[in-house]
Amino acid sequence: MLYDTIIIGGGAAGLSAALYNGRYGHKTLALIGEGFEGSTMETWGVENYPGYLSINGTDLIEVLKKQAQNVGAELKEKYIHHISKKGKIFSVHYNNHYDEAKTIIYAAGTMRRKLGVPNEDILKGKGISYCATCDGPLFRNKLVGVVGGGDSAAKAALILAEYTEKVYIIIREESFTAEPINIQRASENPKIEVLFNSHIDEFIENNGMLAGAKLHTGKIIDLVGLFIEIGGVANTEPIKKLNVEYTKNGYIKVDCTGETNLAGFFAAGDVSDAFGGFKQIITAAAGGVVASHSAHNYLVKNSK
Ligand SMILES: Cc1cc2nc3c(=O)[nH]c(=O)nc-3n(C[C@H](O)[C@H](O)[C@H](O)COP(=O)(O)OP(=O)(O)OC[C@H]3O[C@@H](n4cnc5c(N)ncnc54)[C@H](O)[C@@H]3O)c2cc1C
Repeated sequence: MLYDTIIIGGGAAGLSAALYNGRYGHKTLALIGEGFEGSTMETWGVENYPGYLSINGTDLIEVLKKQAQNVGAELKEKYIHHISKKGKIFSVHYNNHYDEAKTIIYAAGTMRRKLGVPNEDILKGKGISYCATCDGPLFRNKLVGVVGGGDSAAKAALILAEYTEKVYIIIREESFTAEPINIQRASENPKIEVLFNSHIDEFIENNGMLAGAKLHTGKIIDLVGLFIEIGGVANTEPIKKLNVEYTKNGYIKVDCTGETNLAGFFAAGDVSDAFGGFKQIITAAAGGVVASHSAHNYLVKNSK
């Protein structure tokens, strides 16, 4: 089927774009991935999204989905494999099926960056996790660690401190880069111990499960859960065949209106370099809205 716009992504950016696209009256399909995933969905206790004192990502997503559907956007829980372009029309491929669109708003977010320590992949799901909100409750009363010094690491440690006996935060640098309020909360939490200037060289295993981490100093920390929170890598695999420009870190280059170098192709949220790379729910939502406005202008101009 031919749509005015196909949106890729069911996070704050994609669903906000769907809301505006629907309100513009454009025939819109949003392909939102499958299940509980994406940074917006996984974020717990959001206190800096205007209009809410505190809201969980899952609840925010439910509201955004309803808003988009209320204005006629069609949502499908599907993963796309790739997008191609012939003339002015894009084809979006998923599940041996494709739909076509005059414009694309690409908002597929990021996937978590790996630490690169041997056996990380083997121990994933056996102690190593990339989502404290999803897996934290599995480590009730256990010793766990978080790797990273940014906001997501500080927030992950605070979530984990609610369930676990103790949380080590392992930070390569000599200080946090998180928001001051999260640094203060983590530093004052009696269950959290911060290890600055530290990195993991090796994982210790017991019967195929994570049992500890050996630091570069040779010190071994006993822990059965380790949450890697060292940022993300843009989800751009499905668009590799399109001639889209990226930053040196692999994010899609957009101007302040969400436009990329490719006519009819717009991008928003964490997958892009919008807002100087400031990756938050509010900037993702705003980016989605601006991209929808640009797609609208493009559709109007190209229908004449
Ligand atoms: C632990 C953590 C805590 C955070 N805390 C806060 C906070 O307190 N406040 C704040 O403002 N920000 C916070 N952030 C940042 C914020 O969550 C993100 O900046 C924002 O949610 C990004 O939204 P997005 O829509 O760009 O991407 P996402 O929310 O990641 O959405 C991407 C979407 O794309 C979909 N997708 C991916 N690949 C495909 C594909 N091939 N086909 C179809 N769909 C696909 C996914 O399923 C998902 O629905 C936090 C981030 C993390 C990791």
